[in-house]
Amino acid sequence: MSYTDLSTPIRTIMTPGPVEADPRVLRAMSTPVIGQFDPEFLKVMNETMALLRYSFQTDNHRTFPVDGTSRAGIEAVLCSIIEPGDKVLIPIFGRFGYLLTEIASRCGAEIHTLEKDWGEVFYPEEVKAEMKKVNPKVVAMVHGETSTGKMQPLKEIGQFCREQDALFVVDAVATLGGVEFKTDEWCIDAAIAGTQKCLAVPSGMAPLTYNDRVEELILERKDIERGLADDSANDRRIQSNYFDLSQIQDYWTTDRLNHHTEATSMLYALREGLRIIQEEGIEQRCERHQFHGEALMEGLKAMGLELFGNQENKMPVVTVIKVPEGIDEAQVRQTLINEFSIEIAGAFGPLKGNVWRIGSMGFSCRKSNILQVLSALEATLLYHGADINCGAALQAALAFYAEHK
Ligand SMILES: *Cc1c(COP(=O)(O)O)cnc(C)c1O
Repeated sequence: MSYTDLSTPIRTIMTPGPVEADPRVLRAMSTPVIGQFDPEFLKVMNETMALLRYSFQTDNHRTFPVDGTSRAGIEAVLCSIIEPGDKVLIPIFGRFGYLLTEIASRCGAEIHTLEKDWGEVFYPEEVKAEMKKVNPKVVAMVHGETSTGKMQPLKEIGQFCREQDALFVVDAVATLGGVEFKTDEWCIDAAIAGTQKCLAVPSGMAPLTYNDRVEELILERKDIERGLADDSANDRRIQSNYFDLSQIQDYWTTDRLNHHTEATSMLYALREGLRIIQEEGIEQRCERHQFHGEALMEGLKAMGLELFGNQENKMPVVTVIKVPEGIDEAQVRQTLINEFSIEIAGAFGPLKGNVWRIGSMGFSCRKSNILQVLSALEATLLYHGADINCGAALQAALAFYAEHK
């Protein structure tokens, strides 16, 4: 009897997530399940929290994963801090900015948005000016917009939020573990990561971190829930049970007050992914992502393809290229997956059909994958009749690797 489904293919995944899980992570997932109140499990939780603080570059005590995909973490943070009527400013520069808006609006926030054309990011001054006008309680923003491949500089905005006493919440789902991210130094009050992107772990957990400013607010709302504070006229309770961070944070202490049943096997996976990051070193890991991202870009440019958007703020882990004239975007992806077993991504919204997004994240971010995607893309584009420079892409990438050995 076979225990593996051999009809499921092994792919080379070069999308902005989910990407290939590190084989060490997959092995860790088959560690025997133990009870969530087993003293040995407490050790697993503590080690994971310590490793997460390293990846988030933070001293925040409250640093743990929430069970669910990345947006579960976003939802947990937003619904735990936003009360009906709270002013929330969301500068949007791609699809995931709309996700922040969508979640915040369900929390009853009074939402103020700023919007940029897809392919651009904000100047800090633009966000600051709007903050002065709106005086928001929360500013929520995406760090790396996988929908456009662009990355928002955060430090100056974070510092201004601190000055204005606004809480700064950042979606670092696509960047943590692959691109420099400094929670404390950049004055970020709460940040959320994703496992299936640069952490090279399957999807299913949302690591997050928040500081005392956030915790104070959450505890105030918890007191109301317990009837300790007199605010009966106005129901300020956190509306979600599953995403109530005041309860989840109690579960992640030595008291371990029961909340949900922890996703044991996912926690083994996350811990292993984070151990790999610590072994590699976070700076070295970011350099690796930068390095292979550059090799990929060199290859694509040599092929004659055009990069999308303003390159000044390009995410090193996502490369967005324009579809050449007369080429069917979806057909190319189909050939890549059917003939070469390589997956790249199409796009959403205004970019749908016009660009491809190539990810180079986590375990997928390695030389053999970069060379494979370049060679397969070249062959596929030729096959579909595109006018490209034959043979140039691989030579450019190989030259880049030889030069930077
Ligand atoms: C992938 C992604 C998300 C959504 O994550 P899910 O795990 O699908 O919930 C959110 N924000 C950004 C920037 C992403 O790239």
